[in-house]
Amino acid sequence: MVRGLEVRNILTVDVEECFHRNDLLLSQQQKELLGTRVVEQTERLISLLKAYGQKGTFFVLGEVAERYPHLVRRLVEEGFELGLHGYHHRLIYEQKKEEFRSETQDAKTLLEEIGGKEIIGFRAPSWSITQRSLWSLEVLADIGFKYDSSILPARAYLGGIPGSNPRIHRREEAEIIEVPPSILKTGCLRLPFSGGLYLRMLPYNFIRYCFNKLNKKGLPAVIYLHPWELDPEIPQLKLNWKGRFALYHNLDKVQAKVERLLGEYSFAPVQEVLEDACSFCGP
Ligand SMILES: [Zn+2]
Repeated sequence: MVRGLEVRNILTVDVEECFHRNDLLLSQQQKELLGTRVVEQTERLISLLKAYGQKGTFFVLGEVAERYPHLVRRLVEEGFELGLHGYHHRLIYEQKKEEFRSETQDAKTLLEEIGGKEIIGFRAPSWSITQRSLWSLEVLADIGFKYDSSILPARAYLGGIPGSNPRIHRREEAEIIEVPPSILKTGCLRLPFSGGLYLRMLPYNFIRYCFNKLNKKGLPAVIYLHPWELDPEIPQLKLNWKGRFALYHNLDKVQAKVERLLGEYSFAPVQEVLEDACSFCGP
């Protein structure tokens, strides 16, 4: 196995069903047609990571934890870090502060009770910690989160803060560390490359170029995966072209790319990498 650059990169997974995507606005009937596949999909990803001897952080949606507690326990047994991906996959900037606090606290308690571990990491649905919901960082710190991984330092369809610091850094708003998903930054271009649709669309050699660019500076790449994005068998719905693209584009290509990354680079959970944070924390 070639893992030349000796930097521990960060692997994260958002554990949710494909119908949780906030941009699709699916009807209840469409959700039922898609069915529930998260357990099998996550099991497949666990096996893949085990085969390559890699670890990561799984940000589990409260709804999923509630319905499939055995999946949460499996992740803990296999030595993965648990984080929280919200309760119902609602956009943060559409919630009131107190509503967000109570829902997030409930989901954190639920996940801690099931997993038997303290949860210190949070990932917002659809990068929805934006300029207008930065108040949420104070809430997160207040209820016991030590790090957040929700601020995409680029523009995205439903979220992102294009001018935000792309390196791991301490936030000013609260006692919390931000672990942003990686982007390629050249001139005024800020291009995410490390997960979701970007990982599905971009050629592997380009992703590898971005990884090497960061690792040569001693910086970890932060990738994010969704178990359903490695499942080309998800049922086909009649959607407009945008919906089809968001839900089905290149699902049959993701596993091969992920396997190449797992074979070429070293990955660890967020919490472990943060132990060395002072060596690469940005200002
Ligand atoms: Zn999500």
